[in-house]
Amino acid sequence: MGKKKFNFYWIYVILTAVLFGLYFTGKDEASQEEIDMGQLIEMLKDGEVGKITLVNKENAEIYLKDNPKTVKYTYRIGSLERFEETVEQVQKENGITNPIYITNVQRKSWGMDFLIGWLPLIVLVIIWVVIMRNMAGRGGGIGGGQIFNIGKSKAQLFDKDNVPVNVTFKDVAGLEEAKVEIMEIVDFLKNPEKYTKLGGKIPKGVLLVGPPGTGKTLLAKSVAGEANVPFFSISGSDFVEMFVGVGASRVRDLFNNAKQKSPCIIFIDEIDAIGRARGKNPMNGGNDERESTLNQLLTEMDGFGTNSGVIVLAATNRADILDKALMRAGRFDRQIYVELPDLIGRKEIFEVHMRNLKLGNDVDKDFLAKQTPGFSGADIANVCNEAALMAARKGKEVIEKQDFMDAIDRIIGGLEKKNKIITADEKKVIAFHEAGHATTSWLLQYAHPLVKVTIVPRGKSLGAAWYLPEERQITTKEQLYHEMIATMGGRAAEQVIFGKISTGALSDLEKVTKQAYAMVTYYGLDEVIGNLSYYDSTGQQDFSLTKPYSEKTAEIIDKQVSKLAEQAYQEAVSILSEHKDGLTQLANKLIEKEVIFGDDLEQIFGKRPWDAAKEENHEES
Ligand code: ADP
Ligand code: ZN
Repeated sequence: MGKKKFNFYWIYVILTAVLFGLYFTGKDEASQEEIDMGQLIEMLKDGEVGKITLVNKENAEIYLKDNPKTVKYTYRIGSLERFEETVEQVQKENGITNPIYITNVQRKSWGMDFLIGWLPLIVLVIIWVVIMRNMAGRGGGIGGGQIFNIGKSKAQLFDKDNVPVNVTFKDVAGLEEAKVEIMEIVDFLKNPEKYTKLGGKIPKGVLLVGPPGTGKTLLAKSVAGEANVPFFSISGSDFVEMFVGVGASRVRDLFNNAKQKSPCIIFIDEIDAIGRARGKNPMNGGNDERESTLNQLLTEMDGFGTNSGVIVLAATNRADILDKALMRAGRFDRQIYVELPDLIGRKEIFEVHMRNLKLGNDVDKDFLAKQTPGFSGADIANVCNEAALMAARKGKEVIEKQDFMDAIDRIIGGLEKKNKIITADEKKVIAFHEAGHATTSWLLQYAHPLVKVTIVPRGKSLGAAWYLPEERQITTKEQLYHEMIATMGGRAAEQVIFGKISTGALSDLEKVTKQAYAMVTYYGLDEVIGNLSYYDSTGQQDFSLTKPYSEKTAEIIDKQVSKLAEQAYQEAVSILSEHKDGLTQLANKLIEKEVIFGDDLEQIFGKRPWDAAKEENHEES
């Protein structure tokens, strides 16, 4: 460390010395007096001047007759022509018999030359050194910190000597299928002979595929924890740097380190950063640096024997955009899907994260799991932490149900902004808008049942409605259509009640537009386009350049999409016109209470007939 600093400061020293040198050599001999034009004219009149030399057309050096060897005076020239004219004229007017003429010389100052020639280089060297120092300093993983370590991998190593892995399967809730699949790897790492004896081959690479926050990293870490082997963790984006060849050399370095620690696990998060399909975009000619990094990764994976004890786990949320070469046999030939948790999964995740919390008696994990559809494991971990913080802020001894509810709301919608200023008129519009969503979704059989509606502004949005999505794998055309109508319900309510519409429906419209496009072009749900899907699961097509359909089809798609959206809107308007009274009651209740629940809707509109059979769950306020 000390040595490096010493080296670096030398550059400052040299630079300072150079600048000083330039400063002094730039100054010529002293004893020259700068004069003005008046003085020069006087001298010319008296015929004292022996010679005038113009240096670089900007400085006149004046020699006197009685001392023709040394420059006595200098004059800084403003306008060259005027100067020459004046010198000539003054001598003519005063009848000087043998007038002097101005001689011109080009004189180079070696100081300036040096500066112009070398300064850019010096600056470049300094910038380069600074960048290198920064880069080497970042990360600080294995061997980080030195200038020429840029090619070293930045993987974080967890092992017994450094930071031990303290995660095991009991910290991973749900994900039963994934755990079963990955169990085999743990077993292999523990007793490799058992497999090698029979000639079995263990996968070298396993790809964990799933949305962010679903526990992919956690799962990979737990494998290392269970098998009690070292764990190298790195993100795909850590490989790629702006210098050519760095990524590949980092991959090499990572695998070298891993082989020395074998048996061990390498975990590459966000592998799509390097593993995206090669040469897909013809416009930018591909990213060579990323490609060579990927190639190196493939080479390394092919290079080590199946049973060398290094297993690579990689995570991505988009397996479809990965290069097919990654998935070939002997590489990431096994894929494990890590999905968002279902009801039971969510309950188990709550259990894991509540282990260390002081809970009140009213906390019900089943209930919380029901209230958090679509939450990932990371969201739930966040809810638990947030609830603990809220309870602490209120000075409570234990965390109560209400704290969890508030935490859930907060995660969904951002912080309540009680003091955001909303005029009474605006509040009315928002209330009717949200009531419109609530009413339409209540009255449509296939729309999601409502959990709650609020007009307390949160984060960026002014109001919000919560629905309880049924956990379903296949969605029918009716369901999609009814959801579109409910989404249009906000704007439709504004139209029905106030006769005018506002900008408040931007995100609703965006959602509807995307939904409609998906229905027409992906799911084959449009009668004119028919049973075609332009979805590309291989990710090899780049639709921004070429479309897989003709211009004529494109026109039809646009027409059908706008027809679908318009139909949904008109449907919403007609439902709300018919139930204008109920809508108004609901909106007034919303203005009064700010938050309403399913029960309030039931009071106004009665039970949803098709819900009667199904068990329902509404939140008590
Ligand atoms: P990913 O790698 O899939 O983006 P992580 O593994 O980083 O997600 O998960 C982030 C955090 O969320 C974990 O540290 C953990 O606290 C929590 N978490 C996610 N899934 C689970 C799960 N199945 N069980 C317990 N905790 C989970
Ligand atoms: Zn809306």
